[in-house]
Amino acid sequence: MPAPVPPAGGEEFSRAGVHRYAQQWAGAVARLGFVPMSAAETERLLTVHSVRLAQALLAEPFSAEPADDVGRALVGAHLTAPAMLDWSVRALGNGFAAAVLPERPDSPGVRHRVTQLQGGLAAGFARALRELTFSQQERISRSAWQARDETEQALRDSEARFRAVFTGAALGIGIADTGGRIMDVNQAFAEMLGYSVAELRDTDVTSLCHPEDAEPLAELYRDLVEGKRETARVEKRYYRKDGDVVRTDLALSLIRHDDGRPRFIVAMAEDITERYELQQRLRFQALHDPLTGLPNRTLFFDRLAAVFADGEPADRVGLCFLDLDGFKAINDSLGHDLGDRLLVVVARRLADSVSGRGHLVARMGGDEFVILVDGSGGPQEVIDVAEVALATVARPVQVGDQQLEVSASIGLVEGPLAGTRPAELMKAADATLYWAKADGRGRWAVYDPERGARDNTRAGLAAVLPAALERGEFTVDYQPIVALADGSTRAVEALVRWRHPELGLLGPDQFIGLAEETGLIVRLGRWVLHQACAYGSRWRREFPDSRLVVSVNLAVRQVNDPGVVDMVADVLAETGFPAELLQLEITESALMATSGEPVRSLRRLAALGVRLAIDDFGTGYSNLAYLRRLPFHTLKLAAPFVEGIRTGDPLALVDERIVDALVRLAHALGLSVTAEAVETSGQADRLRALTCDTGQGLYFGAPVAADEITARLRESGSGRAG
Ligand code: C2E
Ligand code: MG
Ligand code: MG
Repeated sequence: MPAPVPPAGGEEFSRAGVHRYAQQWAGAVARLGFVPMSAAETERLLTVHSVRLAQALLAEPFSAEPADDVGRALVGAHLTAPAMLDWSVRALGNGFAAAVLPERPDSPGVRHRVTQLQGGLAAGFARALRELTFSQQERISRSAWQARDETEQALRDSEARFRAVFTGAALGIGIADTGGRIMDVNQAFAEMLGYSVAELRDTDVTSLCHPEDAEPLAELYRDLVEGKRETARVEKRYYRKDGDVVRTDLALSLIRHDDGRPRFIVAMAEDITERYELQQRLRFQALHDPLTGLPNRTLFFDRLAAVFADGEPADRVGLCFLDLDGFKAINDSLGHDLGDRLLVVVARRLADSVSGRGHLVARMGGDEFVILVDGSGGPQEVIDVAEVALATVARPVQVGDQQLEVSASIGLVEGPLAGTRPAELMKAADATLYWAKADGRGRWAVYDPERGARDNTRAGLAAVLPAALERGEFTVDYQPIVALADGSTRAVEALVRWRHPELGLLGPDQFIGLAEETGLIVRLGRWVLHQACAYGSRWRREFPDSRLVVSVNLAVRQVNDPGVVDMVADVLAETGFPAELLQLEITESALMATSGEPVRSLRRLAALGVRLAIDDFGTGYSNLAYLRRLPFHTLKLAAPFVEGIRTGDPLALVDERIVDALVRLAHALGLSVTAEAVETSGQADRLRALTCDTGQGLYFGAPVAADEITARLRESGSGRAG
């Protein structure tokens, strides 16, 4: 699950784009509410803020704090209309990135940052507005308080001041007696609740309140009156006359008589409904995937963390990590629009099928979904969930006029909370998903710790492969390939080994696959070829008459590499080894996995004069008629055929007939045949009788270091020079 890529460090934003954005912003502000500045001033101010936001978008490391500051600054400049905040947050999400980063407004890193900036702006705005409200409230209370110990005149002044604030305030202000009966409200308060001032007088405060908030509010009043507290700040919901709910930020303070007896309670209420809804919307957006509406990975990880935080060690948890099979192909061939619609359908089906059981379904990104089975009853329960999920995804999907059939694979993990952590669980689910895919897709697989450990070893090996090549930990052994007719050594096959500092000598089966996956095979393969050709050159100088062929294996990835022909030509030139003494082995299965360009590479290699051999023939399903059209010289019969050939074994008869037919066919096509894995003299005899040309195997000699091949050539007196 890759983290979003952040913008590149040092990247520049478009100044002109920022300026255009600020102009639009200023225009919207002017349309949406009272602005205590000139148009030019507003634009200047918003340009400054736009620049700050653009800088924040590109800053390394990233922080949403500048957006928070901008939110506060808007309140500071008295741009407090809720519609203005709404516009600002929305425009930040919609047009901002496109304006300031026209090159790549939609990259995931940018989108992620923009969402954070939206949140920061809204939070800063909300906090600043609260503080503003509170300071207004304090001013009013103070003016009322002052009445206590001042002269008649001062009292009248203070009351006048209070009146002025009371009537003129944009905030709703109400005064209630100690029993909670409303004595007076200002116009703003009445409007907020949709009543006239007269209608509200003499009503009970709690009767206006949302039922759930009524009792707590009554209790607050009692606390104030009983002197347990002087002021209170709470969020309360009221009913409007038309039945709608108004959310308010409510500040209450107790005003006392001169002698200290409670006199009345002043309530200041700010309508925060829109702000609240905006925050809810932002919160929802931050925690849900916009395409499918499912919970996103943030929400999923929150829930998973909560499962671990709240659960007992013996509680169990299960995860199904689901990925659609071949979704990329659908997207590429049918277009992203249809791909998106398919995802929406799959998401809805998954949610419908398992959320009835109370499980969380989240979209992790792309075509990956996860189902959280909180409080699992055991592996079988999670397997049931996986099967339901696979079945529901497999039903045909109608998108537009296309009927699509997709399958999914699921990696499944289940176990007690004790002994694991969320990150481990996710890693295990991810690995298991990979197994399900590798085992043939359209299925679930359950996590197996032993297989996981093996995977980890593989991953560990893959990580150190490049350094191992640098440090010279690889060596090449050579195995003789012998003419069956006279026992002379005709060729040697180069076989690579890894002298791992801790694990000892590793055979190619333990790392060639990894090197292919990581792409290192291209460098490793070149290195092996260079080694082999360099030795080949020495043997040729020392034993010119042996005409010893050096056979080197080529991996699929190398064959597919467009530079392979140049690479081989370069190595031949560097080592002075003649092309006609080099043989390259390509396994039959590798050959089946290539077509087009790679086949052209093989033809060009043959044109260089290099011999080509089909390795492990008989393990794939190629037909000789196809291979005939490719420029091969040699066919290497795979070990299983040779294994079956033993004198006197009646079961061997079938294998012998197959080998007989293959050798005849190969000869008819002009190919020479090498039998692999010849282990006994009996096998050698039978293969000779079947007119097989050469043999390789323990009977003729195991793979050995180059020097031992030199000694062998010397011993057999292979045409020593001079
Ligand atoms: P391969 O090309 O078919 O090589 C023959 C394998 O058979 C070698 O295994 C060899 O040690 C083994 N062998 C030799 N004699 C006998 C025998 O009498 N009986 C049996 N059962 N096996 C015998 P090794 O060295 O483990 O290599 C395994 C495979 O790894 C090779 O199969 C080849 O496909 C690949 N490989 C080895 N070196 C390289 C390389 O440099 N590059 C690439 N791409 N692949 C390599
Ligand atoms: Mg080979
Ligand atoms: Mg082979």
